[in-house]
Amino acid sequence: MSLKKNIVFAIIGLFVLFSGFVMAETYVVGTSAGFPPFEYVENGEVVGFDIDLLREIGKLKGFDIEVKDISFDSLIAALKSGNIDIIAAGMTITDARKEVVDFSIPYYSANQSVIVQNDSDDDITVLFGNHKIGVQTGTTGDLWVTETLKDKGILTGEIKRYDTFVYVINDLVNGNLDGVVLDTPVAKRYSEIKPVNIVAEIITGEEYGIAVNKGNTELMNKINEGIEELIENGTMDQLIAKYF
Ligand code: GLN
Repeated sequence: MSLKKNIVFAIIGLFVLFSGFVMAETYVVGTSAGFPPFEYVENGEVVGFDIDLLREIGKLKGFDIEVKDISFDSLIAALKSGNIDIIAAGMTITDARKEVVDFSIPYYSANQSVIVQNDSDDDITVLFGNHKIGVQTGTTGDLWVTETLKDKGILTGEIKRYDTFVYVINDLVNGNLDGVVLDTPVAKRYSEIKPVNIVAEIITGEEYGIAVNKGNTELMNKINEGIEELIENGTMDQLIAKYF
């Protein structure tokens, strides 16, 4: 091989090596930004606990993230089709979902809550009879209202399903809904920033996990190791203190 060729190969080799060092992988994180404090829009940007959590895991494991805001009900399909690599959306680990995606170790626990307008006299009985109950499509709250109330004839009124909690809360505040069922930590936050009150809690004992495509063990290991390290080094507590 000529000296010239050797030099060309050496340069290519160095370039490949160098680019490997400087170009961290970027994963597309899918979320649904109507779920404060886990994910919400602030000054036109998607921020929140889940977003910071993924950024911190990325720092430890050497990857960057790009955030995509899509409807909650489309997240699993987006993961399956390769539009996103990771779901970070306060998503509850359920048996049905575990059949189609892989979940990380749990990172947060939650129940469901019932909220009504501030000036409403309704209590938990808003879930019974002829009332209009709002949910975000495809959530565990949607499933609970459907299976436990509607299918059993306890709720005889309408279940209104929305793409995002942003519109659910707007319709509750506008008086277009009688009540809303959603995750307790998010119900708490909405009750601080909107004229709505929590009137009951349903103990569902849910746990949130970060999801990746089935069999993507390389990425799942990075996420699980990341969560464990963040718990050990105190960053998880700092994130909780920042957002809750
Ligand atoms: N934890 C609920 C679920 O997984 C709601 C999540 C959400 O609305 N972002 O269905």
